[in-house]
Amino acid sequence: MLKRYDRLYGIDLGTSNTVIYEKGKGIVLNEPSVIAFHQHTGELLAVGSEAQAMIGRAPAHVDIMYPLRHGVIANFERTSRMLQHFIKKIQGRSMFLRSSHIYISVPCDITSVQKRAIEETVVHKGARKAITVEEPLAAALGAGLRLDEPLGHMVLNIGGGTCQVAVLSLGGIVASHTIYRAGMSLDQDIIEYVKRQHNIDIGEPTAETIKKTIGTASSSREERSMDIRGRDLIDGLPKTIRLTSSEIYTVVNDFLGPLIEAIRATLELCPPELAGDVIEQGILLCGGGALLEGIDERIRTETGVAVHIADRPLECTALGTGMMLNVEGKRSKPTRSEAKREEAADDKE
Ligand code: ADP
Ligand code: MG
Repeated sequence: MLKRYDRLYGIDLGTSNTVIYEKGKGIVLNEPSVIAFHQHTGELLAVGSEAQAMIGRAPAHVDIMYPLRHGVIANFERTSRMLQHFIKKIQGRSMFLRSSHIYISVPCDITSVQKRAIEETVVHKGARKAITVEEPLAAALGAGLRLDEPLGHMVLNIGGGTCQVAVLSLGGIVASHTIYRAGMSLDQDIIEYVKRQHNIDIGEPTAETIKKTIGTASSSREERSMDIRGRDLIDGLPKTIRLTSSEIYTVVNDFLGPLIEAIRATLELCPPELAGDVIEQGILLCGGGALLEGIDERIRTETGVAVHIADRPLECTALGTGMMLNVEGKRSKPTRSEAKREEAADDKE
């Protein structure tokens, strides 16, 4: 049961970014899901933005990793240490998760065993209660859709490790499709392209900057360019070259093919009434990939369905888990005497 002074958190544990919502405060943390360790001693060196800043710049004994892969926890121990660190940062003290209720978003296609493992990881760390919620539902809620109606909605979430298309109706997922290529693989494709076409080796942070600065999903936008620095593969020396948006467009274009196929396949999978709703309502685009220039227009052209970008595509999942928390908060609010009794019991503990 919820106690009066329990803290309620909604967590979007993403492959690229972890976003935490706290009831009564709003979004209290938004950091890359990265952790850095000393390879030999196992000592924790940095977490979040600090660890991300080390990528490509750290000595060999520093092990930097994204502990989630394709939306699934690849390393439980490190994921839980990362979460522990983030919560500690918010709470400003070492007591981890005690008196916390947590809603945590997970991709809709993970198995119930994986879901339970995530809940147990969080509860093991001391949370009073942990509930996993399916990411497309949380993202749709956080983007302002009403899900309790008998009306079909399509959500396309383009994250770091997966792209997920889901059709929702009456608060549940009717059809869905996941592609295990997303923002991070697009960065890898850019690295490969620059290597192949320009004989230059660049790191992941540079590739991501290129994608965000001149990446485009539309061939008709004004041409832009940027200078990038990398290592010449022939003489091994640093070299600066100029890249154009039309070059990056060719890379993005190859990436988009399977994504558009997935949207079509999901529409085919869902019952005709719902497919009709989606065509009328349009597709809701969320996740960091929604910020790629021209992606909405491109999907609209290819599928014939209108596309709306969520207001805060990087935060809507966490906001949605927060909205679910608020519902729980209302439902199980204790009476004043109950709360007093619980507080007294806890003080004794
Ligand atoms: P996840 O939920 O998997 O953690 P996010 O929804 O946080 O993923 O999105 C992260 C991805 O979005 C990263 O791959 C990042 O490079 C990408 N991204 C962020 N901003 C932009 C942008 N302006 N243009 C293109 N991609 C972007
Ligand atoms: Mg996400």
